[in-house]
Amino acid sequence: MNAAGAELSAPILDIQRFSLHDGPGIRTTIFFKGCNLRCAWCQNPESQDARPVIGFYAQRCLHCFVCETVCAEHAIRHEDERIGQRQCMRCGTCTEACPATALKLMGEFLSPEALLGRVLVDKPYYDSSGGGVTLSGGEPMLYPDFVVRFLKLAQAEGLHCCLETAGRFDFARCSPALERCDLIYFDIKIFDPESFTTNIGGGRRTIFSNARMLALEGFPVEFRMPVIAGYTDSAANVNALIGFLRDFGCERVHLLRYHNMGEAKIDVIQGDQPKLGIQANAEASLTAVARQLRQAGCEVFGATND
Ligand code: SF4
Ligand code: SF4
Repeated sequence: MNAAGAELSAPILDIQRFSLHDGPGIRTTIFFKGCNLRCAWCQNPESQDARPVIGFYAQRCLHCFVCETVCAEHAIRHEDERIGQRQCMRCGTCTEACPATALKLMGEFLSPEALLGRVLVDKPYYDSSGGGVTLSGGEPMLYPDFVVRFLKLAQAEGLHCCLETAGRFDFARCSPALERCDLIYFDIKIFDPESFTTNIGGGRRTIFSNARMLALEGFPVEFRMPVIAGYTDSAANVNALIGFLRDFGCERVHLLRYHNMGEAKIDVIQGDQPKLGIQANAEASLTAVARQLRQAGCEVFGATND
């Protein structure tokens, strides 16, 4: 229950077992649904909307019209292969009726206790590897009360708890959750204000202020930069990152490799995010950014030696 006496729950998109790259040891990564940024290169577009969404895998569809028949809301218009997101009540009836698994309900509301139950099935692996659980998204900090409750439960079971955040949150409101994290991965993307607004959206000042506060107040924070060719990889942006981190004595950066698998998911959720077509430059871009950081004396993780 929260302070108002209501049951706590949060929308969960996916629970990924046996993750090896989201913190130490073997982990379960929990992807929350809902995000307060809109990065042009988003690799998890199905996590942006906090509501569950019906995914449509067109290549599996048998054109049997069963989904259209069972939908009480008349949300499916088969002739143009669209699901009307405004009419759809996310009931899941069509996904259960589809004989071809061409429809999938993405996202479910879980309580902290139910989520912990899902995570604990792999406790022997966490215990033997020094692993645990990583909260990712979407943006977990959209649900600070839920996160506090979940982390209390997880830590009572002895799990190492890690948070991945894009940093747009109210620091005071989220402090109880942040203070419970054993490790915080904080993503920094673009410094230039105009480019930030165009390619990410709002919240620039909040994000940089939160990054600084976490570092200065001694939180166990590691900074990461997703390397997106043509968006975050310019020499000026990397220089700005180096200067920003040096300001509070940090010289460690984790680089995140871009992949374009998210672009197929845009079609599945019938989203309107443009496809960037930048995969071909991803590896060269990662190498160049890693080189620039190392030449400036930074310790770099997530990129092979250049
Ligand atoms: S989830 Fe329910 S309301 Fe939405 S399209 Fe399917 S049957 Fe219709
Ligand atoms: S029920 Fe499934 S297979 Fe049949 S038309 Fe709908 S999406 Fe296609």
